Amino acid sequence: MTRLPGASPDDVRRVLDAVPTGLLVGGRWQPAESGATFDVRDPATGDVVAQVADAGPADGLRALDAAVEAGPAWAATAPRERADVLRRAFDLVIEHADDLALLMTVEMGKPLAESRGEVTYGAEFLRWFSEEAVRVAGRYGTNPEGTGRTLTLQRPVGPCLLVTPWNFPLAMATRKIAPALAAGCTVVVKPADLTPLTTLALAALLEQAGVPAGVVSVVTTSRAGDVCEPLIRDPRLRKLSFTGSTPVGSTLLAQASERVLRTSMELGGNAPFLVFDDADLDAAVDGAMQAKFRNVGQACTAANRFLVHDAVADEFVRRVVGRVREARVGSGLDEGTTIGPLIDERAVDKARDLVRDAVERGATVEVEGGEVDGPGTYWAPTVLSDVQPGSEILRTEVFGPVLAVSTFRDEAEAVRLANDTEYGLVSYAYTRDLARAQRLAETLETGMLGLDVGVVSNAGAPFGGVKASGLGREGGAEGIHEYLETVYLMTPDPFADASAPAARS
Ligand code: NAD
Repeated sequence: MTRLPGASPDDVRRVLDAVPTGLLVGGRWQPAESGATFDVRDPATGDVVAQVADAGPADGLRALDAAVEAGPAWAATAPRERADVLRRAFDLVIEHADDLALLMTVEMGKPLAESRGEVTYGAEFLRWFSEEAVRVAGRYGTNPEGTGRTLTLQRPVGPCLLVTPWNFPLAMATRKIAPALAAGCTVVVKPADLTPLTTLALAALLEQAGVPAGVVSVVTTSRAGDVCEPLIRDPRLRKLSFTGSTPVGSTLLAQASERVLRTSMELGGNAPFLVFDDADLDAAVDGAMQAKFRNVGQACTAANRFLVHDAVADEFVRRVVGRVREARVGSGLDEGTTIGPLIDERAVDKARDLVRDAVERGATVEVEGGEVDGPGTYWAPTVLSDVQPGSEILRTEVFGPVLAVSTFRDEAEAVRLANDTEYGLVSYAYTRDLARAQRLAETLETGMLGLDVGVVSNAGAPFGGVKASGLGREGGAEGIHEYLETVYLMTPDPFADASAPAARS
């Protein structure tokens, strides 16, 4: 990973001063109707770094009005024109990558080098979908009976509500905004209240790229439910795309079910990380470090359960412990930091509870880690081995830098343990046996499988889960279809009239 130099307080101030803090509704930046604001804090210090407009339900509905009004013109825009706008947005995000990375680190804590990585990843959705915008196709075919022709066309679904989480504030926004705009939809974005600044900065760049007024509105609020529910129940809204926790996703699905609103759900995970006895252990340890500690463990794709073959478990743990001891905990703004703060106190409490429960049930503490004194919400990385069945950490998304190792005896047991969860977002497996890798691809209950890699996210690939991890896919050739409706046309056989001039030869 490249290391960026640390950032100075002057850099931070300059970047914060440049962020718009109002609501973006119908192309105008404006305060909330009530005039209310809420605080945004730096998790590295607990300090308030900004105050942004705190929308109420009326503000949300005005944003939907704007999306509805802008819809027909945007849908009628030539695909190439939409592609060009998205491509300009990609260029602008890359041009402002350092500032966006700094802003992201200030509001959510991840080390600067990782924030820079997220900017590159997030920007790729703008580029990828600028390329997909001009490749939306239909079909023409003969019906099986030969009596007619069937045609399909793709139309934008219409105004969308996009709700995003705090852990990847740029990429989760572009992964929804880019395909929606490419498809010809208009959107209302509701970013997480813990990290609204990156999305606001992105929205300003989208405006600069030429996104017309009303096509993208951004509504920041500390009252997500109050603002989103009226939109979800409004018949003018045609699509809800949500990324966040499974409990909130299931609440929103219940609301959406009333009027059969189309939804995409990118929800929680509980990723197994399988290491077989024939694995390249160096590669497995490298992958484990990425899959566990990227974003300080706060990723839906974070490896949650390390399942390691008996024969290699001790060696795997020994090597992981060596690597974890090299971690540098500190502010994400400081050069050399590899583990930044957790997002808030609740995240620290969760790590503490899960570690305590696992140890009480018999796990061995290999690296104690734990809470770090001082301002900010830090947890130094913990490594546990011999984690016992029934431990809460095997059922719950840790969302923190706690690496929990259990063992298995054979492939059948590995697959059984891996699938023993309500989730199915991503799995990781390290093995040199190709047939086994193929069997895993066919038997693991997962939307994604990292084979001998610790990171699967890629703009060109369909990201998404099975079971309680969600519905739909983002990115890849699939991503734009979340924002398109298929319309089918039937016509008579054009040769049915025997006197037709171009009779079949
Ligand atoms: P969260 O569910 O608490 O919040 C997600 C978003 O929903 C935020 O914008 C929040 O303000 C909003 N929200 C909360 N309650 C709401 C309500 N009643 N109505 C409407 N909106 C509401 O999740 P989080 O803590 O921000 O993010 C972490 C979770 O997101 C983890 O479970 C993680 O696995 C998941 N996640 C999933 C993916 C994926 O692609 N599958 C990606 C990133 C994060």
